Amino acid sequence: MHYKRILLKLSGEALMGTRQYGIDPIRLAEYAKEIKAVTNRGVEVAIVIGGGNIFRGVAGASRGMDRVTGDHMGMLATVINGLALQSALEDAGIQTRLQSAIKINEVAEPFIRRKAMRHLEKGRVVIFGGGTGNPYFTTDSAAVLRAIEIDADVILKGTRVDGIYTADPEIDKKAKKFDFISFDDVLTKGLKVMDTTAFTLSQENKLPIIVFDMNKPGNLEKVVIGEKIGTKVNF
Ligand code: UDP
Repeated sequence: MHYKRILLKLSGEALMGTRQYGIDPIRLAEYAKEIKAVTNRGVEVAIVIGGGNIFRGVAGASRGMDRVTGDHMGMLATVINGLALQSALEDAGIQTRLQSAIKINEVAEPFIRRKAMRHLEKGRVVIFGGGTGNPYFTTDSAAVLRAIEIDADVILKGTRVDGIYTADPEIDKKAKKFDFISFDDVLTKGLKVMDTTAFTLSQENKLPIIVFDMNKPGNLEKVVIGEKIGTKVNF
């Protein structure tokens, strides 16, 4: 196996499927199947889930809400998504633990690094909810932070597009996809992979990122066995 321990980042919007808002149970079940395929291969899987399908702090703030309150709502949204994902994974027969960065003990375990690593060693999928637990951050930053903390080999950013392009492929038909790109090139070319805080944290800690299309069945498994799927950001 190419990667022994992965950190999968899924955005909240990915859970919407064809909906405009909320969670699509069909999409969740599909993701559970994809994740099961890699756990069956003995890969240890940790997941950071976003909350953008329910609430984003910035959006609340733009409508007059206090930003920190909005961010608290966004973090709670990620816990809601984490619960939904946990339920879908358990329906697929996968053992999971949800750990939250904000204390919500009746609902999820608190984030405890050593416990998280123990769960992974036992083959449980660990879902990290609550982002970093701090306002003004994103779940991309949470993904990089947790990946470093648990010593993951790679961050797999599952998106709707199949990698990083020279321009937005939905707008510019001539846009070309990169198979590999360096962290420096992403920055000098002004390409968008993650927000700057998350991206530099990954760069400083030499943690590669692979951006790939999570909606194509089999892709996640292909990535973990080392097939050239998506774009790898490396050194
Ligand atoms: N959030 C936060 N701190 C964090 C992670 C998330 O305050 O460490 C809040 C923030 O308001 C953010 C929302 O939670 O907009 C949802 O997270 P994000 O936008 O990263 O979700 P995604 O875009 O991945 O769905």
